[in-house]
Amino acid sequence: MDVELKPGLYIVPTPIGNLKDITLRAIDYLKSCDVIYCEDTRVTGQLLQNYSIKKPLFTYHEHNAPKAREQILEKIAQGQCICLVSDAGMPLISDPGYKLIRELQVRGLFFTALPGPCAAISALCLSGMPTNQFFFAGFYESKMAKNIKTVPATLIFYESARRVIKTLESMAGIFNNRLVVVVREISKIYEESIFGTFSEVCESLTVRDAIRGEMVIVLSPPKEEEMAVDAISAQITELLKTNSLKDVASMISEIHGITKKQAYDLALAQKK
Ligand code: SAM
Repeated sequence: MDVELKPGLYIVPTPIGNLKDITLRAIDYLKSCDVIYCEDTRVTGQLLQNYSIKKPLFTYHEHNAPKAREQILEKIAQGQCICLVSDAGMPLISDPGYKLIRELQVRGLFFTALPGPCAAISALCLSGMPTNQFFFAGFYESKMAKNIKTVPATLIFYESARRVIKTLESMAGIFNNRLVVVVREISKIYEESIFGTFSEVCESLTVRDAIRGEMVIVLSPPKEEEMAVDAISAQITELLKTNSLKDVASMISEIHGITKKQAYDLALAQKK
């Protein structure tokens, strides 16, 4: 159905695997807009063909973003309705777009986002991990992972098949005894959730002929003991900057009610 759209930007989510996962409203808006901006015209071209949608396609991706952004803003200012899609899922989520929204805000131009598929949210629901608080960390980097170690929430990471084993091995060194779920191929024929410790999940993947598909890694929240040890370690690091090992052990023992020997061992480990 053709709908009358007011000039502005429409963020339109697309399927992450199953072509039927597109809303009626998304189809209406893609049919009714003036032009569509996408990451890759071949990928979006195929999607549009499936729904018999013919529209001018332009690219907006990380390599041409500043120039494409200006074009989009100009078109909207001239009264055009533009749909923004990514290769899959919700645009802006580990995909380009947020700077465009910032510019629209600043210039007082209209924009809206249609609800729809997002791999992070589906993976969270499939993971069996607590859903009341979660932290989406995007693609994995060990430096960033160390910084979010004590976030009291389920952690969600995007990953590729090529990197997944290396990432799980690196995570094991940082997140130790957390439970991990690798959620693969969401909404596709071979959708699966692989659940266990880091070594169990790694083993389940490495015994395969090949590791294929798109995947999301979900980690359980930290246990209270883990958070407590991390908090003490951070305090020790600070105190060691201006005090001797022996003095830090005494202070930590007093503050946290642990024995001097326990405090000394913790401080010593921190100093190494
Ligand atoms: N914007 C997308 C979204 O809303 O989920 C994410 C784009 S990001 C560039 C691509 C990553 O999303 C993949 O590396 C993978 O981690 C995850 N992903 C996308 N589709 C998936 C699927 N069907 N199953 C599992 N993970 C998927």
